[in-house]
Amino acid sequence: MVLEVREVRKVFDGFLAVDGVNVTVAGGDICAIIGPNGAGKTTLFNCITGHLVPDGGVIRFKGHDITGWPAHEICRQGVARSFQRINIFPRLTVFENVQAAVLSHRRRGRDLFTPVERLYREETLALLEQVGLAGEAEAVGGTLSYGYQKQLELGIALASRPDLLLLDEPTAGMSGQETRMTIALIERIARERRLTLLFTEHDMDVVFSIAQRITVMHQGRIIAEGSPDEVRIDSEVRRVYLGKAK
Ligand code: ADP
Ligand code: MG
Repeated sequence: MVLEVREVRKVFDGFLAVDGVNVTVAGGDICAIIGPNGAGKTTLFNCITGHLVPDGGVIRFKGHDITGWPAHEICRQGVARSFQRINIFPRLTVFENVQAAVLSHRRRGRDLFTPVERLYREETLALLEQVGLAGEAEAVGGTLSYGYQKQLELGIALASRPDLLLLDEPTAGMSGQETRMTIALIERIARERRLTLLFTEHDMDVVFSIAQRITVMHQGRIIAEGSPDEVRIDSEVRRVYLGKAK
């Protein structure tokens, strides 16, 4: 297992946002976590990536206990993420955004006499190519369309060469067309890089089209887990979630 989450809990002022959650993700799998707003999905992601310290339970990545480690250490082990809200440097160019991410993950062997714009140029351009932004390298991050900003975030996340990528609502706020493009992009990158992917998503069409495993959260707990076909027919899921969603 690439990721093992065992009995993880997170409490905010006595409120159990994540209440004894178990999730396992095998290498190379594409797994979705779904559930209504407030189910605890983002909180669980924050516990996995070290942006929050869980109040209980254990998180293992590639067999190592990473529970409570700082986010940069977990990232260095090979876990990357994107956020539900856009998280880029809006005043830097697309190239500079990705280059900064590459630089921060490869400090070794840096030659002080190389102008900074040449550092990791090839790697940065390759990442831009991969996320479909090669033509936007000189554009200023904050001026990009929403869909492009999300692609840029993906490029930034990939700069750390992760084994496990967590995407928190990668298509939130996108048009239907942007959603389809983004999902195709994510699927292709996951396959090419043999990434393990864990994502949350509100669009059920997206979830059922690309996820191999689906975990359903409701009020901090897992209420169902299985293949898309198993989850689709689960009566509890239909009752608390799918029946109310689209
Ligand atoms: P989801 O991502 O599934 O929509 P969240 O993990 O964002 O759910 O939130 C789960 C619950 O925890 C919500 O009720 C939310 O209000 C609460 N919550 C999340 N973060 C905090 C926080 N930092 N402080 C207090 N309550 C929080
Ligand atoms: Mg969320």
